[in-house]
Order: sequence, then structure tokens, then C-alpha cells
Amino acid sequence: MKEFDLKNYGLIGKFLGHSMSKYIHGDLWGYDYKLQNLNESELDYFLKEKNFKGLNVTIPYKEKVIKYLDKLNDLAEDIGAVNTIKNNNGKLEGYNTDYYGFDYMLKEANISYDDKKVLILGSGGASKMVQKYCKDKDAKEIIVISRTGENNYENLDKFKDFDAIVNASPVGMYPKNLESKIDIDLFTKLDSVVDLIYNPLKTKLLLDAESKNIKIASGLDMLVSQAFYSAEIFFDKKLDQAIIEKTCKLLEREIMNITFVGMPGSGKTRMASLLAKDLGKKLIDIDREIEKKEKLNIEDIFKYKGEKYFRKIESQVLLDFSKEKGQIISTGGGSILSEINRHAIRQNSFVMFLNRPVEKLSRRKRPLSKDLESLKNMYEKRISYYKEVSDIEIDVEESISKTYEKIKRELIKHEIISD
Ligand code: NAP
Repeated sequence: MKEFDLKNYGLIGKFLGHSMSKYIHGDLWGYDYKLQNLNESELDYFLKEKNFKGLNVTIPYKEKVIKYLDKLNDLAEDIGAVNTIKNNNGKLEGYNTDYYGFDYMLKEANISYDDKKVLILGSGGASKMVQKYCKDKDAKEIIVISRTGENNYENLDKFKDFDAIVNASPVGMYPKNLESKIDIDLFTKLDSVVDLIYNPLKTKLLLDAESKNIKIASGLDMLVSQAFYSAEIFFDKKLDQAIIEKTCKLLEREIMNITFVGMPGSGKTRMASLLAKDLGKKLIDIDREIEKKEKLNIEDIFKYKGEKYFRKIESQVLLDFSKEKGQIISTGGGSILSEINRHAIRQNSFVMFLNRPVEKLSRRKRPLSKDLESLKNMYEKRISYYKEVSDIEIDVEESISKTYEKIKRELIKHEIISD
């Protein structure tokens, strides 16, 4: 707290370990921005001392800060939650820019709640903002699902004809990735699913919806745009909206893993290690990580413990690594066989399928690639999963450098890496 002075901006909350706000406001946008963990008694002291220029507020203080404010803007008052405080010559003013961030996020995803039945998961601060937004945008019906409420996770079937779901709960958030309390199949008319969570980029709820071709939106756009609207309040001026998109792209590039999938011997590890070196990113070879964990090589794991055991460990290792950020990941050829693995791969990754003719696949030290016939059968069984899990498919060339050039061209084209 001593580090703050009247020129500083910052974020207050209780658990700020994984916050990206300092990176956005401080590193990317260039003003003095600090993260300040506070317990309840420190909150009182901090807000009475007013030794800051502007603040963002997060869990669990968005409602608790209100009593310290000299002025509350109408929107924040209606919502009952504040995420932005400006110190205007000793007078604290409260605002809610999450609302505008939510609006930006929906517009980017082409989602509207006009005349729609909207189901909101969770009843906390973010949920209140979403409820107000849905009312303002003329939603036909708004239902809040709360663990302890009349409408809860046990009677979701009452709402199976709803058009939209918004997750305003922390379910599925890092480090408890791939959790969800919702079975998307229950809903017969779903048009959109929105998740306020931004870590991972796609929660299980979003991945389930995406696989059914339902429109989705993830919390990163909201995170950046609410920060942008806070900055407009801090500096009392209109800023260029293009900053939002530019910042989202930058963050996505930082966060996103690039993951290679494909048959054993298709060149995944080679390409991943070239790319990791080139981009200065961490290389994760899932098979090597399994070997480290088991202290046995892959062939021996298959030989002594069997494929079922191998698949179990593979899944654990994949789940552990795929939720982290900014890595180049080479997966094992069979990792795409289970849905949970496919979700793990997709949650934070741009996924590239290296497709190589079966007769060209290397068979050296690969326990399941015994002969050409078994490889062909394996390819037939797996091809639809490789296609399903990947963002793009690369036909592997004879020459390593040609394949690598192709990969880089595609990554630049899809704006995953810069030119
Ligand atoms: P919150 O005040 O802690 O409320 C979350 C609500 O979720 C709780 O009131 C609770 O409602 C429900 N909940 C909590 N734990 C749960 C669990 N284990 N299972 C099921 N439901 C649970 O948090 P918040 O400020 O509203 O934020 C909610 C989420 O939105 C968080 O993940 C946050 O990171 C995200 N968020 C993102 C942005 C962004 O910029 N992208 C901005 C704001 C918030 P019930 O007790 O009624 O079930």
C-alpha cells in the first residue's frame, strides 16, 4: 500500500495473482498501474486514505466500495456494483464499465438479447450487471440460476427453450479448467453462449457450444474493453476504440498456445521445436513429459503398463500443460481420441493438424505404428478427430524447411504470430 501515491492507478481485490490488468494498463497502455491485494480491514484504510488517482475494483469488493464513494453514477447505482473509481481532487466517484465491456463483447460476437430468453448463471456482481443489461436491451425473459435459489442447477430443464446462456459464475475458471455445470444438449433453441471468464480463452461451456455451432463469446474482449472505458474515465477523454481490438490481438498472441496434432511420425515434434526456437517460446512435448513423469520411455509404458494406462497419464499431462499460456505444444498422435483431451487442446490453443500421407509416416520407436496396414486403419479412425480439433490443416511437404515455411505463412495469415 505504501507504494501508491496520488499519481497512481491500480486494481484492488482479494486474489489478484492471475490478473492481467497491470499488463494491459501498465505495460501495454503505459501508465503507472499497480495491483493491490487487500483484506477487508485494509480496504477501509485504503479508501479513506485516498492515496491514488484512479482504481479498478474486482472480487470481492465491487459492492463493498460503494459506501466510501462521494458520488455514484446512475448506471453503477442501478447495477449496485462499481468497478472503476476516480479520485477527483479528494472526492471519490464510482462507475461501472463492465456494462460497456459486456456490450462490446456481445457486439463483436454479433449477439443480441432483444426479445430473447436469457439464462444467467451465478448471482454475484457480474450477474447483476448482466441482468441490468438484458433488461435495457429488451430481453423477453431473464432467469438467474443460483446454487441456492428457486431456479438452480437441479431444475434447468424448466428453461430448455431458452435462447441464450451467460456464465457469470467462476465455474470453469483457471485452475479448475474444463468444469461446467451445464449440459448444452438439454437446450433445444440455443442461439448464443457467453462466458465472462477469460482464462482459459474458451471454457468447457464455450467449447461445448462451439461444437454445436452455437455463437460464442469469451471474456477477453470484455476484460480489455472494460479497461479501455475505465481509462477514458481516468483521463477524462475519449480514446481511440481501435485500441481495444489491437490490445485483444496482442493479448491473444501472448496467451495462446500453438498446438500440433497429427499421426505419429507426421513431424509434430520437429515443427514444434523449430517454431518454439524461432518465437522464443517454451516447447512442450507431451510424450517427453509423460516419460519424465513415469520415468519410463513411451515404448516401455506401452509394453509394461498397457495402452489404457498410457492414455490415462497422457490425459493428465495434457490437461496440466494445455491450461498454461504461450507455449508450443506437440501432442501424441492418439491424444485426440477422447473428448476431454480435445477440449483440453482447444481451450487455449490455435491448433494445427499436420497431415502426411500414411506411407510417408515415420514408424521408428512408435509402439502402435507396427506396419502400413495398421497405420492406415489408425489414420481412418482418427482423421475426423484431427479435423474436428484443429483450426487449420497443413499438408506436410517432403522437405522440412518447406513444411515449416508453410506453417509460418499460415500462422501469419491467421494473425497468430506477427510478420
Ligand atoms: P462473484 O461475485 O464471486 O459471483 C459469482 C457468482 O457465481 C456467485 O454469486 C455464485 O452465485 C456463483 N458461484 C460462485 N462459486 C460457484 C461455484 N463453485 N459453482 C457455481 N456457482 C458459483 O463474482 P463476479 O464478480 O460476479 O464474477 C463472476 C465471473 O465473471 C468471474 O469468473 C469473473 O472472473 C468474471 N468476470 C469477468 C470480467 C471480464 O472483464 N471478463 C468482469 C467481471 C467478472 P450463486 O451462489 O447464486 O450460485
